[in-house]
Amino acid sequence: MRLRTPLSVPRLLTNQPIHKPAAGWLRSSTAMATSNSTFASAFATDPISPPLTDYKPRYIDIGINLADPIFRGRYHGKPRHPDDIQGVIKRAKEVRCTKLIVTGSSFKSSRDALKLAEQFPGIIFTTAGIHPCSSAIFTPSHHRHHDESQSEDEAEHTPACGPDPTKPILDSEGIDHGRSEKIIADLAALISSARSSPTPSLTAFGEFGLDYDRLHYCSKEVQLHSFSAQLALAASLTPQLPLFLHSRAAHADFVRLLKEAFGPRLERLEKGGVVHSFTGTADEMRELMDLGLYIGINGCSFKTAENCAVVKEIELSRLMLETDGPWCEVRPSHDGWRYLVDAAKAASAAATATAAAATAGVPEVGGEPTTAAMTAPQPKKQGGKKNQKKEPEVPDRFKVVKKEKWEEGAMVKGRNEPCTIERIATIVAGIKGVSVEEVCEAAWANTIEVFGL
Ligand SMILES: [Zn+2]
Repeated sequence: MRLRTPLSVPRLLTNQPIHKPAAGWLRSSTAMATSNSTFASAFATDPISPPLTDYKPRYIDIGINLADPIFRGRYHGKPRHPDDIQGVIKRAKEVRCTKLIVTGSSFKSSRDALKLAEQFPGIIFTTAGIHPCSSAIFTPSHHRHHDESQSEDEAEHTPACGPDPTKPILDSEGIDHGRSEKIIADLAALISSARSSPTPSLTAFGEFGLDYDRLHYCSKEVQLHSFSAQLALAASLTPQLPLFLHSRAAHADFVRLLKEAFGPRLERLEKGGVVHSFTGTADEMRELMDLGLYIGINGCSFKTAENCAVVKEIELSRLMLETDGPWCEVRPSHDGWRYLVDAAKAASAAATATAAAATAGVPEVGGEPTTAAMTAPQPKKQGGKKNQKKEPEVPDRFKVVKKEKWEEGAMVKGRNEPCTIERIATIVAGIKGVSVEEVCEAAWANTIEVFGL
């Protein structure tokens, strides 16, 4: 009872995209009864069936801060374990996350991302821009050159995604306009040089935008200036680059500045863009989608029931997936976590049914395990040892250790990385009541379309 017949249905668009829509991925969500939550019931009625789908997921992590020194084993300037970037990429490949768009959020991280892309051609792609939290370089009191090459000890971590209650900086500081011109000229030169590389990896302008949850790095005034000045540069590029955008608690100003730069319908935005790490309201998301923009979803997008209700409203034709590692992992306290629990239970039921079928002499279906099965706990062996560690509710695919106990091949506790992107897809599928396949294929097609990968 494989349900792999593609059904042609009208696109689920309710808006008129400016940009050419991704094609060919959409299937009837009602006909495709392959969502994780249906695994258990399907097997309950038909225990000797082969897996419902042999679909092999594929992922592009559109927002991963791999230029962060934490992926080199350095935490707040101190070495804590060996550089394990190779291990991070290997684990990403093992879950079929085969392309990574490494976020540039400052001059340094943008340059480091470009260097990483040279090391991993065809896997790592990059962005270049100045994050709102890195925009203090536009102020008169900034004490270093904006593009100063920092020593490893001074290397900064990328801005985390959560709000910060630290005291905000007020607007009184002002802008250093002379310095601003130099910053924008230097950013233009960085982009131009990256684009003229024989192996260009630069795929987007950004990360840039507004973040009013974190005014302790930069005042509103400075953020508005930084965003507006970079938008003017982005609009002036020939050809333009797609935009990698950040918007937190700043929707009205964010949309206003985008329209000022690219027109009231963003009609002058040639390559589209994604608003990543989305945590806004459904109305805000609808407005962004109506403007032709895409929505990037990571663990921060599942924190509350309200967040998950917004994710439910995303058009699959506007969805992109990301981890935003080392930040934004999905935690058991997040409302979206329960969809991982559901998927694990369903996969466990599927594994048990497959084992029963094998015992009954039914040949096993070839190929690799499905997404759900890959994260399933193995069926319990009879007569196991007492005092065995309780199976976690949601099993980890890879071993996880504290950074102090780092070991080759293991993930580091609290350091999110691209291999966890399958959790994002599983939760989106659970929330929307569609298959993981639909989610993955939609996000893949959208990402290829916008970033031209
Ligand atoms: Zn961001």
